Amino acid sequence: WAKEEKEIKELEERSRDLESSATVSKFSDLPLSQRTLQGLQSTGYQIPTEIQKAGIPISLKGCDILGAAKTGSGKTLAFLIPVIEVLWKQRWSSVDGLGALIISPTRELDLKHEQERIRKTNIVVCTPGRLLQHMDETPGFTCNSLQVLVLDEADRILDMGFASTLNAIIENLPEERQTMLYSATQTRSVQDLARLSLQDPEYIAVHENS
Ligand code: ADP
Ligand code: MG
Repeated sequence: WAKEEKEIKELEERSRDLESSATVSKFSDLPLSQRTLQGLQSTGYQIPTEIQKAGIPISLKGCDILGAAKTGSGKTLAFLIPVIEVLWKQRWSSVDGLGALIISPTRELDLKHEQERIRKTNIVVCTPGRLLQHMDETPGFTCNSLQVLVLDEADRILDMGFASTLNAIIENLPEERQTMLYSATQTRSVQDLARLSLQDPEYIAVHENS
């Protein structure tokens, strides 16, 4: 415990002191936990992509972010690494309930099967429609303890006609939270969603080939 406590304290200090201009060339240059760095090493990923270099430090500081980068640029890890780090630093565990919600235009699975497990899950990845359904229909499912909201592929979610569903969801989430909004394109409706869901966000847009 004492060792972990010391690691968390050091990471928090390093995250606070991160300059936006700091040179990040490898994942190991970022203030990440040993376990996350080991996980990255085992996948063979060493060099963060541009959106990861720009986005991860901002999210580790606790700021809201609006990030735009094209498909294939590595946006998943740009939000997933900070989500895991934020919860780990708070020592989030199975008894703490829903800590992070990732809204994404993924495929929907079987509702019943989910209802049995969702109350005990710390990180949920979900479509807007299914999430609203759980909020309305699943006894014991609550978002009251939520720390981090991720809106992934926001432009696609909005193109699918989920703007009002998203608004209803966001109204039901705690205001004290960190939000990461990622999108491949910056449309008017993404900007509207940003106004509704983000507080003093940092904006990053990456145009590159990686
Ligand atoms: P996006 O969400 O921006 O479309 P993804 O997060 O799906 O992009 O990533 C695209 C691909 O790049 C995936 O196959 C992913 O595993 C890979 N990838 C992501 N980050 C890295 C990295 N730092 N190094 C190598 N490959 C990566
Ligand atoms: Mg993606």
